[in-house]
Amino acid sequence: MSTNGTCIECTHWSLKDTDRSMARLGFARCLKKKLPGHTTSAEAVACPRFAAADAGAATARREWLDKQNGARA
Ligand code: SF4
Repeated sequence: MSTNGTCIECTHWSLKDTDRSMARLGFARCLKKKLPGHTTSAEAVACPRFAAADAGAATARREWLDKQNGARA
C-alpha cells in the first residue's frame, strides 16, 4: 500500500538526531533505520512505515530548513 507523504511529514524523521551539517541540507535520520549515519531527504517519498507527525511539527521543520537556506544565501 502506498502513502502520499514525504519524510519531513513523518514522525520518525528526526532533525534533532542528525548531524547538524546534514540537517541543514534537508537530510535527517529516520529513527526506523538501524544505521545512525543513514539519512533521508525531507522530500523523499514516504515509505510504508510512515506515521504522520502533527502538522505543527512538519511546519516547524520547514521553517527551520528555510532559515538554514536563508543563512547560506
Ligand atoms: S523512511 Fe519511512 S519511516 Fe523513515 S522518515 Fe521516511 S517515511 Fe518515515
